[in-house]
Amino acid sequence: MSGTLYLCPTPIGNLEDITFRVISTLKSVDLIAAEDTRHTIKLLNHFEINTPLTSYYEHNKRHKGTLLLDRLLRGENIAIVSDAGTPGISDPGEDMVRLCVENEIEVIALPGATAVTVALTASGLPTGRFAFEGFLTTNKKNRRAHLEGVKDDTRTLIFYEAPHKLKSTLADMLEAFGDRDIVIARELTKKFEEVNRTTITAAIEKYEEVTPKGEFVLVIEGFVGDGVLDVPIDQSRIESELKRLIEQGLSGNEAAKVIAKEYSLPKREVYAIYLEISKD
Ligand code: SAM
Repeated sequence: MSGTLYLCPTPIGNLEDITFRVISTLKSVDLIAAEDTRHTIKLLNHFEINTPLTSYYEHNKRHKGTLLLDRLLRGENIAIVSDAGTPGISDPGEDMVRLCVENEIEVIALPGATAVTVALTASGLPTGRFAFEGFLTTNKKNRRAHLEGVKDDTRTLIFYEAPHKLKSTLADMLEAFGDRDIVIARELTKKFEEVNRTTITAAIEKYEEVTPKGEFVLVIEGFVGDGVLDVPIDQSRIESELKRLIEQGLSGNEAAKVIAKEYSLPKREVYAIYLEISKD
């Protein structure tokens, strides 16, 4: 009889976020396949888990996947762990699961930590419908295409991002989405955890001053306003309203927000008008 593949989430920062079930599974399986064995050994030592460990990562997953499959077919039970969070979520795991499904091997996914749901549920943005978009690529053209592809999506959007790419990602997002509410969730479950509920423009301003450090999840409001307005925008009226509010001391972002709400307009369109008049 074949064995079982267990997907075991590990903490994304705080070691207490491992589950009892993950610990007992890691203790009972025949083998643990880890993204980085040097990283995982520390976790195993902490929880006094002595199960044999092997590597399973992006660049050995084809060859290693076949070896793991052989062992599963011979009846061994194997757990997959990544460096942090849930295997298969922007981490190795997906291919191994597919291989098991194709070979009728039982797959059991254990619940546990993942940065995407922690960030989403803390964000204060709608959670009813959301789209996890993973990482943007480094290739400028593909990044733009990715963002363009989701700009009209009304669901809350969630991206993972590395600190050194955060500034350029925010700039690309402003270009593709216009200004929107964004929640920047940083170092979740760790000592310097921060959930910054802000706008894309305000975040860009912040990171002009502060160097981004740590791990980031970006949660962005979905497209609002599609179909809200069936008549063309009265541009001159919006312009004079914007000017009036700015004279009263509101920032461009704040003024656009007020007017968008008042006239049931997409905020990014009002902000685009503000950008036009602020050039004059
Ligand atoms: N498998 C992981 C999961 O389930 O969340 C994701 C692994 S992916 C390689 C790493 C990315 O996840 C980071 O660049 C960051 O975007 C996000 N991430 C992981 N841990 C985080 C944390 N503690 N706080 C904020 N973001 C985190």
